Amino acid sequence: MDAAGIMVIGGGVVGATAACALGTAGIPVTLIEAHPTAPATAARDPRMFAITRASERIFRALGVWDTMQEQDHCAFTDMEVWDSVANGCLHFDSAELAEPCLGYVFEPRVLVAALDARMQSLPAVQVLQPARCAALQIDSEAARVTLQDGTELQAALVIAADGADSPVRSMLGMEVECDDYHQTSLVALVRTGLPHHYTAWQRFLPGGPLAFLPLADGWCAIVWTLPTGEANRILALSAADFHAELAAAFEYRLGDILDSGPRAAWPLRRQHAEHYVTPRAALIGDAAHVIHPLAGQGVNLGLLDAASLVEVVAAAHARGRDPGTLHTLRRYERWRRGDNLLMMTAMTGINRLFSNASPVLGRLRSGGLELVNRTVPLRNLLMRHAMGLEGDLPALARAADPVQ
Ligand SMILES: Cc1cc2nc3c(=O)[nH]c(=O)nc-3n(C[C@H](O)[C@H](O)[C@H](O)COP(=O)(O)OP(=O)(O)OC[C@H]3O[C@@H](n4cnc5c(N)ncnc54)[C@H](O)[C@@H]3O)c2cc1C
Repeated sequence: MDAAGIMVIGGGVVGATAACALGTAGIPVTLIEAHPTAPATAARDPRMFAITRASERIFRALGVWDTMQEQDHCAFTDMEVWDSVANGCLHFDSAELAEPCLGYVFEPRVLVAALDARMQSLPAVQVLQPARCAALQIDSEAARVTLQDGTELQAALVIAADGADSPVRSMLGMEVECDDYHQTSLVALVRTGLPHHYTAWQRFLPGGPLAFLPLADGWCAIVWTLPTGEANRILALSAADFHAELAAAFEYRLGDILDSGPRAAWPLRRQHAEHYVTPRAALIGDAAHVIHPLAGQGVNLGLLDAASLVEVVAAAHARGRDPGTLHTLRRYERWRRGDNLLMMTAMTGINRLFSNASPVLGRLRSGGLELVNRTVPLRNLLMRHAMGLEGDLPALARAADPVQ
C-alpha cells in the first residue's frame, strides 16, 4: 500500500466497520487482523451484543444490514429494569415511540462475517488475516507497520481498533486512565421456564446488575455482574446449583432455569485513553475506552467512533488533505471523547448507586425509577438515549438510505 492509504489494525466489529466505511467511501484501506475468521460451525458464543438502533443505521448505510438480518438475531421491543432492594421498576416499550423495536441481540461473529463479506466486494479494501502488527513507527511522512512475518507496510494514518489491551496504543506510548470495578461479568446462554416476551430484562442486585437478553430460539443470553470472588464461586457451581441460584437471583421472573450452555467470565475495568489521536494514528472502540457492560453500550460507542473518524478522514480526503495530521484528527477526538466520557461516567455512577445494599439508598433509587417511569417525556428521552438516537451523531448513523 502507498503512504496515502489508511491502515486499520484489528478486525473485530469496530475495526471491520471502520474498514468497510472507508472502502465504501472509496478510500484505500488495509485491514490487519491477528486471528483467522471463526468457522461458521464453531459453538455459539455465550457473549451476545445488544445493538442499538443507531448501530443498525450504520450497518444499513454500509449495506450489511440485510446480510445480518438473514442470520441468527433477535429484536427486542421492551426493556424492564428493577431494583432488588426496594423493587422500584422502569419499563420501556418501543410502541410508545412508534418504533418497531428498541434494539437487537446479535452474536459478535454474525456481525463480523457480514462486514467481512461486504469488504470482499469493495475494491478499495485489502484484508490481511491472520496477520499481526508487531511494530509501528511514526515519522513525518508515514506510519510504518511491521507484521510478525516481517512484512513492512506504510500508510498516511493507522487506526487502532485492536481492543482493550491495544498493542498499537502501547507502541504509540499513549496513556490510559484505568479503574478496577472489582466486579466480574459472568455470561452464559440459558433456557428459561417462561417466555422472554422479546424483552431485555435487568435486575439491579447489591453485587451488580443481572441482565437477560432475549434470543430468537427462545433462550436468553445472561450477563451476571458480581463481585469477583462471588463470580468465581458461581462459575464453579454444578449446572443444577447454577440454575437454582440464577433463577432465585432473578426472582423467578422467567421461571426456573431449565438448561444452560458453557459459562465464561470477564473481569471488569473502566479504561479511557487520555488522548484518542497522535500524528498519523487514532484509537477507536475498546482501544480508546472500556465501559461497564450494564447498558450494553461498548460496541455501539465504538461504531460511532468508527463512523465519526471515517467522516473526518473522508472530508480531508475529498479536499486532497493529508488525513494523518493532528489538525484533522483532533476533530475526531473533540467529537467523540466528550460523548464517550459522559456515557462512561453515567455507567460508573449507575453501577455505584445500584451496587449496594443500603435500604435508604434503595428507597431513593426505587423512588427515582418510579418517578421516571411515570414521567413519559423523561422516559421517552431516556429510551431514545438507550437506542443511540440522541446526541451529535455521525452522518452514517443518521443516514436513511442504504449505500448500494
Ligand atoms: C460481559 C460483556 C458484555 C458486553 N455486552 C455488550 C453489549 O451487549 N453491547 C455492546 O455494545 N457492548 C458490549 N460489551 C462490550 C464489547 O464487548 C466491546 O466494546 C467490543 O468487543 C469492543 O470491540 P472492538 O472491535 O473495539 O475490540 P475487540 O472486539 O477486542 O477486537 C479487537 C481485535 O483486534 C485484534 N488484534 C489485537 N491485537 C492485534 C494486533 N497486534 N494485530 C492485529 N490484530 C490485532 C484482535 O484479534 C481482535 O479481533 C460487552 C463487554 C463485556 C465484557
